Amino acid sequence: MKNLIVIFLAMVAAIFLVRSVRTSWAEMDKFNKREALIAETGRCLEAADWNCAEKGVRELLCDAPHDTNLQMHMAIILYEQERYEECRRYIATLKFSNNDLALIDKKAESLIREMAELGIERSMHFRVEFEGSLSKRDVMEALAVLEVAYDSLCRLFDFHPENKMHLVLYESPQYQGVGPRPDWVGAIFDGKLRVPVNVMQFREIYRPILFHELTHAFVRAMTHANVPLWVNEGIAQVVDASRTGKPRPEGAAPSLEALATPFVKENNSSNAERLYWYSQRMVEQLLHRNANFVHFREFIQSMQKQDVDRALEQYYGVSAQQLYDESR
Ligand SMILES: [Zn+2]
Repeated sequence: MKNLIVIFLAMVAAIFLVRSVRTSWAEMDKFNKREALIAETGRCLEAADWNCAEKGVRELLCDAPHDTNLQMHMAIILYEQERYEECRRYIATLKFSNNDLALIDKKAESLIREMAELGIERSMHFRVEFEGSLSKRDVMEALAVLEVAYDSLCRLFDFHPENKMHLVLYESPQYQGVGPRPDWVGAIFDGKLRVPVNVMQFREIYRPILFHELTHAFVRAMTHANVPLWVNEGIAQVVDASRTGKPRPEGAAPSLEALATPFVKENNSSNAERLYWYSQRMVEQLLHRNANFVHFREFIQSMQKQDVDRALEQYYGVSAQQLYDESR
């Protein structure tokens, strides 16, 4: 009898042990799966692959429906996919609020208005919003140019952007994007390519403008790193080729620091001209060392993990100061 009790107790203990090991295995398994899903979703967010990010965040929200960080990401994902109405409806259901969320809601609202007021055309890789005065032929022509430019940039950098790109052809200043800018700024890329309609009358002007702004859009799609201004403006000018071979502008070279801060802050157009000229020259010096644009793409992508100087050293064996000195 005593033996039986001992055996039973041993059995219960064994069963209990097996069960608890099983439970903790199951828990461990669940934990590991969740960690893997978080890591995968993080990668999708970083790559701006919104479809895959949405899938991940939705799945994570099933387990943690009140996680405000996940909810915030869900709102961003809907916004980035241009599902503005859905985004605003989603934000309205949330039980918390903060400045970022309020800003997304406000931007979504103004974009909904913009979409209602502007005409919309689509092509394979673009969506164009335009004001009514523009003829359909001009819009289709802009789209055709953009598609050609898009194909050449895909081939040049061996890179295919994940998401559709947006072009706003505007006439009224209200569509020229956020922030005031000096008169010398014609077109701009602020997440959308914004081009004033009047340049569309002159093919020799708008072709390089579209190529230029599209290069900025590609740089942004290729890397989420903060690329120095001279690198970004330099490569856009090399690609648009409109200033290539221009003689050095008169006056002192801008400082290396000025070449790394946004040029639109520059109110003086001849200072701006110098900033552009020197940034193109510095990028030309880079391409002189290695003319491969895929290498250039890997260089800017590496800035996600290392600073500019290390990236320059690793990919081109040069420092920014050295490039700057060579360009002067
Ligand atoms: Zn530019």
